[in-house]
Amino acid sequence: MNQQPTNNFIYDTVYIGSGPVHILDACAETLKGKKVLIIEERDKPCGAWQTVRIDPIGDVELGCHIWSYNKKVYKFIAEALNVQLDKMTPQPIIINGNSKLSYDHKMAIGVFKVCANLIKKRDFKGLVKFITQHPAARFPIIPKHYLYPNRGSKEFEEKLVQLLATNKVPVQLNSKSISVEYTNNTWKISQENGTFLQTKNVQLTTHANLKNILVNQVKIPQVYHKTTFTHYHLIIKGKPAKPFSYIRIMKDPLIHRVSDISSQLSNLNTGLSVILVGVFAEKLNETLKPLDCIRAKLIELKLITEAQEIINYHSNSFSSQQMDASTREQLNRAIPSLRFTQTTDLIYGFHQHLARWKKEGLLRQDTK
Ligand SMILES: Cc1cc2nc3c(=O)[nH]c(=O)nc-3n(C[C@H](O)[C@H](O)[C@H](O)COP(=O)(O)OP(=O)(O)OC[C@H]3O[C@@H](n4cnc5c(N)ncnc54)[C@H](O)[C@@H]3O)c2cc1C
Repeated sequence: MNQQPTNNFIYDTVYIGSGPVHILDACAETLKGKKVLIIEERDKPCGAWQTVRIDPIGDVELGCHIWSYNKKVYKFIAEALNVQLDKMTPQPIIINGNSKLSYDHKMAIGVFKVCANLIKKRDFKGLVKFITQHPAARFPIIPKHYLYPNRGSKEFEEKLVQLLATNKVPVQLNSKSISVEYTNNTWKISQENGTFLQTKNVQLTTHANLKNILVNQVKIPQVYHKTTFTHYHLIIKGKPAKPFSYIRIMKDPLIHRVSDISSQLSNLNTGLSVILVGVFAEKLNETLKPLDCIRAKLIELKLITEAQEIINYHSNSFSSQQMDASTREQLNRAIPSLRFTQTTDLIYGFHQHLARWKKEGLLRQDTK
């Protein structure tokens, strides 16, 4: 391929992908006086936290979201992005057949399982590291209050875009990186459009999808798992039959989560509500009338009544490639200028950087 450099400029750091962690990190680096660039193949920034436009209701979050509990990260997001976080009302739950559990207790069960596994493997060093360092390592008796922006990821997206503008961080949209190659102390990033960029450091997350990563002509083997998140936005007349915020549903063949996102509507006085439903993409093809099945499940869960009309619906799919653990381990070890951030959980992704971001002045002047 005949590659043309975009210019002769050498960036300090190029971020591949514009998810929230990259946005905050790029702003922190800019505050230090570093020259950075974010590359994003989609036409909007913010990764999985971007919104989708649905007529006539406006921009709403594209999938059911929840923020894992972490007091420090909640406080940081509220202050650094000036977002008002509210207690989810009622608090999120998980439904498994006929049993119901608070979402926080479900997380605690996950933590017990990780600990039990480490003990079984006699990995006591790993156990101590997990318990002392991982933000998920909590054993709550009384479930904690989960917080979320009242206007959902719509507000989060708006504030992230504002932060990019305030800090004058350049973002190249509709621009896909296909390979990164390290030689002579510099990274060359090749773009799908035939151009390339040069940078001292490259920053990737779990969801950065590249054909080739080469360090001094040695290819780092990459393994990805493709995931497609498919969601249905159902517009109903009136309010849901009972209040709910976020419900994780186990052991259902079609639906895995449901959120009431009515507070995100631009006009709250329409008498309409929006129920957002996460469905298994692979099961959709086997389902003749997905909308009827989704409706039946919502009636079974008593979230809508038999009489309640779905006046409109919209479905969207968000695909991403996730690096597997072996690829991530190799990248972490490869070379210091190839920086890798684990981000499968948003709040824990933020947690990894919190101390550094605060030090670098990411909090608003009046809240420092
Ligand atoms: C529908 C959905 C719901 C989710 N719900 C939750 C939730 O409730 N709570 C939670 O904590 N996490 C959730 N997640 C997980 C989510 O992936 C993380 O929260 C977080 O967004 C990951 O950040 P990231 O930057 O790694 O990936 P993303 O947010 O996916 O962003 C990666 C970006 O990189 C871009 N990109 C990738 N490769 C390239 C390339 N080669 N060139 C240019 N651009 C590229 C992609 O287009 C994408 O915009 C959800 C994910 C999805 C898709």
